[in-house]
Amino acid sequence: AAEEGFDLEDVEGAIEEAGHGPLPVLAVVGRPNVGKSTLVNRMIGRREAVVEDKPGVTRDRVTYEAEWAGRRFKVVDTGGWEQDVLGIDASVAAQAEFAIEAADAVVFVVDATVGATDTDEAVVKLLRRAGKPVVLAANKVDGPSGEADAAMLWSLGLGEPFPVSALHGRGTGDLLDEVLKALPDAPAQTFGATVGGPRRIALIGRPNVGKSSLLNKVAGEERVVVDATAGTTRDPVDELIELGGTTWKFVDTAGIRKRVHLQEGADYYASLRTAAAVEKAEVAVVLIDTSESISVQDQRIITMAVEAGRALVIAYNKWDSLDEERRYYLEREIETEMQQVSWAPRVNVSARTGRHMEKLVPAIETALAGWETRVPTGRLNAFLGELVSAHPHPIRGGKQPRILFGTQAGTKPPRFVLFASGFLEHGYRRFVERRLREEFGFEGTPIHISVRVRE
Ligand code: GDP
Ligand code: GDP
Repeated sequence: AAEEGFDLEDVEGAIEEAGHGPLPVLAVVGRPNVGKSTLVNRMIGRREAVVEDKPGVTRDRVTYEAEWAGRRFKVVDTGGWEQDVLGIDASVAAQAEFAIEAADAVVFVVDATVGATDTDEAVVKLLRRAGKPVVLAANKVDGPSGEADAAMLWSLGLGEPFPVSALHGRGTGDLLDEVLKALPDAPAQTFGATVGGPRRIALIGRPNVGKSSLLNKVAGEERVVVDATAGTTRDPVDELIELGGTTWKFVDTAGIRKRVHLQEGADYYASLRTAAAVEKAEVAVVLIDTSESISVQDQRIITMAVEAGRALVIAYNKWDSLDEERRYYLEREIETEMQQVSWAPRVNVSARTGRHMEKLVPAIETALAGWETRVPTGRLNAFLGELVSAHPHPIRGGKQPRILFGTQAGTKPPRFVLFASGFLEHGYRRFVERRLREEFGFEGTPIHISVRVRE
């Protein structure tokens, strides 16, 4: 490495940074208007507007990446919840329950100017039951005179209330320090107790694409147990199902069973549910309803899974309902709309007739294998060497940037760091990714490539 102009420390640092696994997840919960979205905005450095969102506007993004004191984590914002659909108590409880389940730690936001309400007390009960670390934020303490209000919140029995002003930033640093203490280094969902347990599948897709039908069809009589142990003391939403001789865990099937019916706010609820399921899963099976055109919403769901770095299978459902004409247009749509995930295994199924159900498990296994693939450094560099000499980067400004060497820094999904003598253009990076896929497979998995340029 040294002779290529990188010093060893740089190289090691780059590999470590690129190799980080899934990030721990923080949920921010609380009643409407206590300042959750404002607080989330502060955590993510206002890179994305959240508070401006009007109720009813589709919010496909509910998890954000945040960084504090050099540590990165994900934040689940529950601020967009529609409170009037179920009645305030039930909806705050449902929202909190849901976010808590997907999280490794929770910030519970209370409006210190109002004090603890009955709804707050109800959330405290949920938090106790879930047993996840909780940091209590006493919000809207905009100045020293509010500190006394914050102290009143000791009464909730959640330990020290941290007085903050999400709006002005007062006290948020101390709060985030505390959050870091509460967050594990790696998410428990992925690296904790469940390692070696059943593989975790999220069955996701727009409403009415056939998720529950598919689950019922594949599970049939063999649906074994409702998993009552995972992670939390009460976790009614993961279901263990035996398929092809293996037990799989289908995460968040409560959503599938439509435990909660929502009219308005359903989009937001669906997004939150999808995000939570994806966080908990290793592989996402995205269902597409082939009787309708592939929609932006379908693509958003796929993007969620890809951005979360999960293995991916795409199941085209309702195949029984296709006529020749629709099928022709469907194939065109798949070519154009699904190009960015052309690496994902595809199965054409019918939850109604059972068509090709037997292909689902092999597709899932393929995707998981791709997701876990590790390419030895020697093989990778032999490949990169050949690639660079056969297809050099275009010359720019009299110079020719070159990939000098590379390494795979992590798996689940595969992450690569390439060290280069100059800036590599987007097109060339895409080309390298394509060739990597051709060479090593990676079927069913997103891959991350980061490039370090020699100074
Ligand atoms: P959410 O429904 O819990 O997400 O709450 P929002 O973040 O949308 O905030 C609700 C209202 O409280 C908005 O008008 C915010 O500007 C206001 N707010 C949020 N944090 C603070 C704060 O620290 N101090 C004051 N005075 N107002 C705040
Ligand atoms: P979910 O909201 O994604 O769980 O969708 P459901 O499983 O409730 O299915 C929505 C509707 O699509 C129901 O009327 C199902 O009977 C129908 N459906 C599901 N799968 C198929 C299929 O493979 N073929 C046809 N023709 N209809 C289906």
